[in-house]
Amino acid sequence: MDSKEIDFYSLGFNFIETKTMFVTDYKDGKWTEGKLVPFGPFEISPGACVLNYGQGIFEGMKALRAKTGQITLFRPEENGKRFKDSAERMLMPTYDENKFVQAVKKVVKANEEYIPPYDSGGALYIRPLMIGNGPILGVAPANEYKFIIFTVPVGPYFPEGFKAIDLEISKKYTRAAPGGTGFAKTCCNYAPTMKPAKETKAKGFAQVIYLDAVEREYIDEVGTANFFAIINGKLASPKAAGTILPGITRKSVLEIAEKKLNLTVEERDISYKELFEESCTEVFCTGTAAVITPIGSVVLEDKKRVFNNGEPGKLTKKLYDLLTGIQRLEIEDEFGWVTVLE
Ligand SMILES: *Cc1c(COP(=O)(O)O)cnc(C)c1O
Repeated sequence: MDSKEIDFYSLGFNFIETKTMFVTDYKDGKWTEGKLVPFGPFEISPGACVLNYGQGIFEGMKALRAKTGQITLFRPEENGKRFKDSAERMLMPTYDENKFVQAVKKVVKANEEYIPPYDSGGALYIRPLMIGNGPILGVAPANEYKFIIFTVPVGPYFPEGFKAIDLEISKKYTRAAPGGTGFAKTCCNYAPTMKPAKETKAKGFAQVIYLDAVEREYIDEVGTANFFAIINGKLASPKAAGTILPGITRKSVLEIAEKKLNLTVEERDISYKELFEESCTEVFCTGTAAVITPIGSVVLEDKKRVFNNGEPGKLTKKLYDLLTGIQRLEIEDEFGWVTVLE
């Protein structure tokens, strides 16, 4: 879509074509020199491993336009590392982390006209994607791969201001089991979450909270966001021990809470029962798309707990202001997390 036709002030989270994408192919054991090409479809064999067996991984990042006009990325090297971990789990070739960051920068620069202006609160969402496109019949890795990076302009996550969402704890569905692929950003993990999301939305909830697959007691995560709770004044989040996606926002929030708010942070098992006790005062979830989203209430069957009258909690708001301030170059980046594009 022509950037001049886009109303950057009314964007949601929908697919919009931008001008340029990055592509590189893996053949005969090595990656070709990656290049920028016009955004568009490509041919794929019906026998492609990704189409038949789901051998695919992705990442999600955002480029922001700061008040100064500068373009920023948030910890892109962390996405590069995670992309590598996901590739290894799915028996796919890895892509060098530095080259990954370079490629991301190139695509963003090439699509600069699609970065929403600072005052719109939007971002250029960046989607690195790797697929096994070589044909295969038995369940085995493909011999050819494609790594693409495309971008989409998106609106702010809170168009009507910082608001809390209502969630349902699911005792019916789980997302990932020990020994599985929960920690990898692989396509296989997302199609199965569409039905639980649709069912809970029909009941008026924004998303489901998934519990661990073994005991159905400990919180794993929220749809595609990591979970946090303030319990007894401490900030707790489920351990990233295989079944949850190790979010970069999660990791950053844990660090900000400890270093800037002097909170005690705990990565531990959190029973859903703890959410129904008075000692749990705030809950929220985090992700590149969700940033920091306050949770106003949780429901499990006929039990409901409302937090802070359904309003965002104080610490949640402080963490949101600190994180987004750093990301938008409005608070000093003492952690060295922000990459400014030249
Ligand atoms: C991507 C993702 C997150 C958030 O990770 P960030 O690096 O913070 O964007 C959390 N949970 C799941 C399942 C995800 O896919």
